Order: sequence, then C-alpha cells, then structure tokens
Amino acid sequence: MATNSVHPLHADIASIVGEPNVSDNPVIISAYSRDACHLTAERPAIVVMPRSVEEVQAIVKLCAERGTPIVPAGGRNGICGACLPRTDNAVMLDLVKMDRIVKLDEDVMTVTVEAGLRWAELIHRLDERGYKLGFRGPYGGNVGTVGGSVSINSIGYAASKYGPSPENFVSLEVVLADGRVLRTGTGWNPDAQLFGRYSTYNDLTGLFLGDHGTLGVKTKVTLKVYPKATHITYGDFGFKTLENAVAAFHEVQKRGLTEELNLLADRQSTDTFFPGFLDSHPEIHSMFASIVQETDEVLAKRKMEIIREIAFAHGGKDLGNFASQMHWRELFNLVQPLYNNGFWLNTCHLRPIPTIPKLMKGVWAIFERHKLLKNGIKWIASCLGSERTYATGWVTIFVPTKDKMDLGLRAWNEMLDTVIATGGCPYWNGLLWEKRALAKTRSEFMDTYWAVKKALDPRGVFSPMVFTGGD
Ligand SMILES: Cc1cc2nc3c(=O)[nH]c(=O)nc-3n(C[C@H](O)[C@H](O)[C@H](O)COP(=O)(O)OP(=O)(O)OC[C@H]3O[C@@H](n4cnc5c(N)ncnc54)[C@H](O)[C@@H]3O)c2cc1C
Repeated sequence: MATNSVHPLHADIASIVGEPNVSDNPVIISAYSRDACHLTAERPAIVVMPRSVEEVQAIVKLCAERGTPIVPAGGRNGICGACLPRTDNAVMLDLVKMDRIVKLDEDVMTVTVEAGLRWAELIHRLDERGYKLGFRGPYGGNVGTVGGSVSINSIGYAASKYGPSPENFVSLEVVLADGRVLRTGTGWNPDAQLFGRYSTYNDLTGLFLGDHGTLGVKTKVTLKVYPKATHITYGDFGFKTLENAVAAFHEVQKRGLTEELNLLADRQSTDTFFPGFLDSHPEIHSMFASIVQETDEVLAKRKMEIIREIAFAHGGKDLGNFASQMHWRELFNLVQPLYNNGFWLNTCHLRPIPTIPKLMKGVWAIFERHKLLKNGIKWIASCLGSERTYATGWVTIFVPTKDKMDLGLRAWNEMLDTVIATGGCPYWNGLLWEKRALAKTRSEFMDTYWAVKKALDPRGVFSPMVFTGGD
C-alpha cells in the first residue's frame, strides 16, 4: 500500500504495530472520516489497527507523552457520529483486528471476548457451543462491535428481555490514559474467574459503560451467556388505535413474556417495513410483533397464548406471524434493505412505554406539516420493548433523493426536539444528540462526569471535546 508518511507519530506507531497496520494515506483517512450517518467532524490524522492489549498500551503511552488525541473505533457503524474526531491530529484506534474469543467459562456462564469482535460472529461462535447471548447486538450487528456497543449504550436484539447492551456485561478490561490496564468486576482479583460485575468495591464497570471512548480503551469485555433455546413462538397482533396497541404492548412487556417485542406505531410504518401486510386488514392502524424463546416447548407455547389473551383483552386481532418471523430470522440483515427507501434520519431514544402516543402525536403533526409522504419521504415509527417497562423509540424518515435532504433535515430536527420535549432520553449521544442533551443536563451530572474524566485522563487524550457540545 502506498503511504503518505506525514504524521509525526507514523514511524513510532509503525514500530509498535508493524507498518501494514498503520496508515495516514489520504484515501484510507477519507474512508475513516464518516460513520453510518450523514454527520461530519474532523478527519483522523492517522489510523492504527492494534492486535493486542500490549500494542494498545504502547500506543496510548506514546500519545499521552506527545499530547496526541486518541479516538477508539469499532465497526464505525454508529449513526450519531460518535467515533468521529472533534480535533485535528487524532490517532484513530481501529480495534476490529482484536476479535478473538478469549474464554467461554461454562462454570459461571460468561464469555470474554476482545472488544473488536463483531456481534454476528460472536453469536454464531456461541451457537456452535450451545449458548446464546442475552442482548444480541444492535440491528447493525453484522458490522458493529461488542466494544463499540458497550461504549455507546447500544440497544437492539433481545433487549426486550435482557435490556440494552450494558446490562449484559460483567467485566471490562480497559487501557487507561497512563497506559495501565484495569480489570473491573471480579477482575480486581487476579485469582478469580470473571463471574460478577458487583463485588467488594464500587462498581467500576459502570463507569466505562456508555463513555463514548472518553475514559479509556476497552480491550476485552466479558458478557453473560445463556443456554441456547430452540423453542420459538411468534405472534403478530393488530389494533384499531395506537392507544390500544400501546396498552397491550405495555402489559406484555411488564410481564416479561418475550425475547423481543416490537411495535409499529401506524399504518404507514407497517407499509414501509412490510409492504402489503395490512392490505386485508383495513381497520388496523398499529401492530406489534412478539417473539418468545424458551428451552421448553410447552412454556414457549403458553407464553404466546398469554400474549394473545392480553392482545385480545385490548381489542387486538391475530395477524399471524409473518412480521415476527421476518423480524427474528433475518437478524442483522433485517434493516439494511430499508436503505432502498433512501437515506435514514433517525431519532433513536428511550422512553417510558405509556408516553409513546404523546410522541407520535407530535411527530405525526410534523409529517403532516411538511407533507412528507407527498414529497416521497416515508417513515417507520417503531418501538422495541426494553428491560421491564421502557422502550426505544425509533422514528426514522427515509429521504429518497438529495434534493429532498433539506426538507428531510428540517422535519428531522423538529422530530429531535419533540423527542426531548416529550421526555425521551437518547441512549447514545454523539454529534446527533449532544447539544440537545447538554442543554437539558443538570450541572451536578456533568460536573461529576468532568471530575472523573480529569482524574482518569488529566491531559484529555481520549476523544477530546466529546460531551462538550463542541464540533
Ligand atoms: C443498519 C444499521 C442498523 C443499526 N441498528 C442499531 C440498533 O438497533 N441499535 C443501536 O444502538 N444502534 C444501531 N446502529 C448503530 C450501530 O450499529 C451501533 O451503535 C453499534 O453499537 C456501534 O458499534 P461500532 O462498533 O460500530 O462502534 P463505533 O461507531 O465504531 O463507535 C461507537 C463509539 O464507541 C467508541 N468505541 C468504539 N470501540 C471502543 C473501544 N474498544 N473502547 C472505547 N471506546 C470505543 C467510539 O469512540 C464511539 O464513541 C445501526 C447502524 C446501522 C448502519
């Protein structure tokens, strides 16, 4: 590969990771200057692909000595610009070559993996050994890494039962700004297995969950695993009103019946996702898809019966199981074809389930005001049950052509305001949410974060400017 060795640390970094694993070639840099959304920031000055914790330590030490910023990256599959540098001269650490399964500990049901491992690969490797994960990765899990998800609070497959990604981690290995390696959870004890997150001292794992790479570089993560469950039941239920659908959705989620529970808020959303699906159900305006997974067949069937009883009690109609089967079986391939509708503009966030109708009232008014459908801009408004009683809200609009982008962005910005005004809290932040989130954040919260940041990273080497609103 031709290189354009202008970065002052090129030679030193190459001596750590080997020449093929470092580049400041403008073509490579250009490829690394975006994630999966339209937002832009600074380009990294140099891209490095370490293969071991020792290499990460050496790079961090070198950068700390020289005062050179470091931005860790996984699949660069985020949709909020989180992995993009905010300052020039940054070293981007691409961790995807650190992708080994380090240990499956069947005694304590945990798996320890390197942070650059992609979710799809991890799921398949565990399946071969007779295990499943709890949370199974964001819908972008063909590309997204375990380290990226844990750093950005990502949410997705099986969060209805197991919560968002950080709920599923037991221990982290983190390279700190001084180059030392911290092991959290039971990892404080060199003689212990990695079996618990909360032990003996404060929970230090949580400090690094969702830190957007600002407090250290995660090199290993330990996740909970569960026995593989092959008995699956599916059910799609339709409702005349969103209010009825939400009431049933809330009840199913509260009772913890499903592995995955997804609501499509209106008819347009179903038409965009599954064209024609509701053609023979003109009275249906909202629906949910429910998936139960158990190690016991009778239990799986009974749970779906209970879901049906709840749906019927709220005026629901049985729509079969096409949508839920598509949803579950396609796994990470489910959402990629949606790009055929145009470029995505998302509003991914968390909210209490009963507030979904309030959100939708606000966004329907925006769609109407901007005549989105007449302008060829489709949408999908969906919600994924998470943990016990909250949900993600995904209202995504699809801008079909460049000339519609200004209109799309106007509507989208209003949608983001509506999300915050109706009590939504983004799960990840990045350039997408940061200014809006900061405008609302209590000062005690940010003061505490900055005190921690200063103590751990006094020279501000990791991801400078993140959480400042600066861009
Ligand atoms: C088609 C599609 C579907 C998607 N679906 C979802 C979804 O359902 N839910 C969802 O949450 N997101 C979704 N996303 C976004 C994306 O897949 C997730 O946010 C994913 O978790 C990002 O992981 P990544 O490895 O690509 O992280 P990156 O984008 O590379 O990085 C994310 C953040 O983590 C930091 N970071 C990365 N690795 C490390 C590390 N080892 N140590 C410290 N910091 C690190 C980065 O600096 C950055 O701040 C989707 C994206 C696409 C394109």
